[in-house]
Amino acid sequence: MTSLYGLTPKQLSEVAESLGWPRFTGTQLTQWLYQPPFAEIQDMSNISKARRELLLSMFTLGRLSPKDSRVSRDGTRKYLFESPEDSAVFESVSIPDQQRHTLCLSSQSGCKRGCTFCMTARLGAGRNLSVGEILSQYQSIPEHAQISNIVFMGMGEPLDNLDNTVAALEILTKVCGLSTRRITVSTIGILPKLEQFLDATTVRLALSLHSPFPRERETFLPTEKLHPARDILALLRDRREDKRRRITIEYIPFAGLNDSPKHAHELVKILKGLMVRVNLIPWNAIPGTTLQSSDPRRVEAFRAELERGGVPATIRVSRGPDIEAACGMLAGERTPS
Ligand code: SAH
Repeated sequence: MTSLYGLTPKQLSEVAESLGWPRFTGTQLTQWLYQPPFAEIQDMSNISKARRELLLSMFTLGRLSPKDSRVSRDGTRKYLFESPEDSAVFESVSIPDQQRHTLCLSSQSGCKRGCTFCMTARLGAGRNLSVGEILSQYQSIPEHAQISNIVFMGMGEPLDNLDNTVAALEILTKVCGLSTRRITVSTIGILPKLEQFLDATTVRLALSLHSPFPRERETFLPTEKLHPARDILALLRDRREDKRRRITIEYIPFAGLNDSPKHAHELVKILKGLMVRVNLIPWNAIPGTTLQSSDPRRVEAFRAELERGGVPATIRVSRGPDIEAACGMLAGERTPS
């Protein structure tokens, strides 16, 4: 049976119309599904009993609850979800901070992009998450009302699941009332899709760069061969109308590889003309690679070099590493029991 949860307001109006009901019933459905107090179909009290029964015979509600959760010493919480249909697993991470409470969502179960430093890549292609599966990660966790910011930085490449990501963003911003300034989608940059994404949304963008040199970037992100960072940056530079969209460049400094002053200078050079800030992400080690993260002094020197070149740069504080909840550590594992 089809789930109602995950349908857009337009699709819900179409459901209402197809049953010969006023469009307004579609609006009522939208509210019960995405705004508190959320209701099961049988409890949607402003929809007649006969209509609720008809809906129940055609649809399930379909909002998933987390199957498992782990709490870090620092208060970060990782949730595991599992599809009842094909047992695909995906995770989200809830990160309380002083002024904000950020939720990191997954857009896919697994990822086909094969970045050499990322744990999710080890799972292989997996599959796209549905709109309902993306939104469940937000709305079915106990602290959903506290969430102030959402980042698509969990499992998967959002641009490989463009349609569902865009539909989820529409619901988050237009129905759930989250500001576009409080949502960031992180991507490795996939060209035609990035353009469609920029056309369809106004949320913030984060681009995973990791090296200013094409040959080196390719060793970290094989997708560089198909979608060169140079072309992606050119596209961002061309879109002058997007000047108000905040863009972050994500960069993991690896010891002895991409953390030299030469790299910082080249980064400054290729980011000229873009109003971006660089976020330096400490690498969370994963097994089976020779990569090593740069030591904090070197990262600080790299940051200072970028700033000297006129590029604002910050160093990300890693959260939840003790529960494998930090960046790039999501691999859908259950709590060992
Ligand atoms: N596929 C998207 C979004 C998911 S990853 C992307 O790559 O942007 C979100 C961020 O975590 C990316 O910047 C990614 O490069 C980074 N990341 C991946 N593995 C990591 C690891 N082991 N340690 C630190 N950051 C990691």
